[in-house]
Amino acid sequence: MAPSIHPLIDNGITKGDPNFPGGTIQCLCPSNQVVVALKSNIAHNHACGCSKCWKPAGSLFSVVGVIPRDNLKVEANESKLSIVDPSAVIQRHACRDCGVHMYGRIEKEHPFRGLDFVHAELSKQKGWQEPQFAGFVSSIIEQGFNPEGMAAVRSKFRANGLETYDALSPPLMDLIATFTAQKSGIKFSNL
Ligand SMILES: [Zn+2]
Ligand SMILES: [Zn+2]
Repeated sequence: MAPSIHPLIDNGITKGDPNFPGGTIQCLCPSNQVVVALKSNIAHNHACGCSKCWKPAGSLFSVVGVIPRDNLKVEANESKLSIVDPSAVIQRHACRDCGVHMYGRIEKEHPFRGLDFVHAELSKQKGWQEPQFAGFVSSIIEQGFNPEGMAAVRSKFRANGLETYDALSPPLMDLIATFTAQKSGIKFSNL
């Protein structure tokens, strides 16, 4: 049996709506849910195999996208949120009761500061940007996935039109390197 990558990918990807205006996400508590308003669509949505992102039960990967932090507002039960690992670059604010990560925020100087990380699958609305690629794919081995199953995992992504990377996608890696170069005062050569 093919491993479950993520419910949004296992049975084929549904395209998002480019004009989707945003909506709300909520945690998985049966009552008193934490509700977060997202006032735009997400971007760079992707499957992530790292050990830190929240994954639904039984899934090998998380699906996570970004949204400008000004477009995110906690609307209900914010008192249930706490930061999973305060020393991590991304401060993942999770519901203490159900464990779902509602948003990840970067406070340190970082190329992605200003963008919050969110899981659109926690929303009842449809139209969120679909996953664009798979990142940190080899990291699932570090969490106990048998390396012999990797070819099947990668081909399942490709069958769904997603390229697989062992860090982030080339545009995002270029963005990080650009930030690093500019910080150290590098002048770019002319093309
Ligand atoms: Zn909860
Ligand atoms: Zn991750």
